[in-house]
Amino acid sequence: MSEKTVKLLNPHLETAPSDYLYHMNINVANTRDTTELQHNFGDVKFICVGGTGSRMRQLALYLRGVLGVQESGDPVDLCERGQRYAMYKVGPVLCVSHGIGSASFSVVLHELLKLVKYARCQEPVILRIGTCGGLGVSPGTVVATKNAFNGLLRNEHEIAILGQRVVRPAQFSEDVIRDVIAFGVDANDGFQTISANTMGTDCFYEGQGRIDGAICEYTEKDKMEFLQKCHDLGIRNIEMEASMFASVTQKVGVKAGDVCVTLIDRLKGDQVSITMDQKHEFEQRPFLVVGRYIKKLLQL
Ligand code: URA
Repeated sequence: MSEKTVKLLNPHLETAPSDYLYHMNINVANTRDTTELQHNFGDVKFICVGGTGSRMRQLALYLRGVLGVQESGDPVDLCERGQRYAMYKVGPVLCVSHGIGSASFSVVLHELLKLVKYARCQEPVILRIGTCGGLGVSPGTVVATKNAFNGLLRNEHEIAILGQRVVRPAQFSEDVIRDVIAFGVDANDGFQTISANTMGTDCFYEGQGRIDGAICEYTEKDKMEFLQKCHDLGIRNIEMEASMFASVTQKVGVKAGDVCVTLIDRLKGDQVSITMDQKHEFEQRPFLVVGRYIKKLLQL
């Protein structure tokens, strides 16, 4: 197999005769002959992932224009029958939804990594295009993650495996971050794109130090001290996927990046109060940045 294909870290896959990527509803009936998957997905160079199916559909439509893909009509959801995640293909780019949080995202991430292995994709890059809370930056700022911290403020991801606590490093690819900033940003964008550290938590409310959840056992002062500590660590945005995403992709040696737009400045409050129109406009910003980056890397 070519040096550039994805090598996973699971010896059991080498002896499995078939593999059903259940949540995506993609059946690899014969792992020894994946000709059809190679035909359908072998050209994939970028996988863009984001929370909702509707945003990934919009991204697919947007990328058609950016990449000059001559397709019209509604993008086809290749995972529709799985009823969990949505997947659209635009030339060499897959746009896939992952739901909210690491638990939901890790399911489709494992299956996507197996898909690109079976399809023999060459050095695919996975990019998360998300929304997040900001820390000391104006709402609408786009943040490309440098180091991913977990909710314990450690630059690592922690997971329970076979009843044991397993801790793995959580580093995104430096060249992806560098290139996203170098090729994705235009001085006339009218918004800032920065690279900074990100905290990925397992809870939107208490895990992110909010005082407006159903439970809160700390004071506003405790919260502000915590957020200040995050800020001192160079964290400028908070979301719910970064540390898992960085650790899984780092572990299997697949390049990845996390590019998110902030919807709120958490140093100023907890409730996301921008209008739906503003939210929609903000959500287009990472599309612009990532679209330019992909176009440049595809040499279009
Ligand atoms: N997503 C998050 O995880 N946190 C926020 O504050 C906003 C969006």
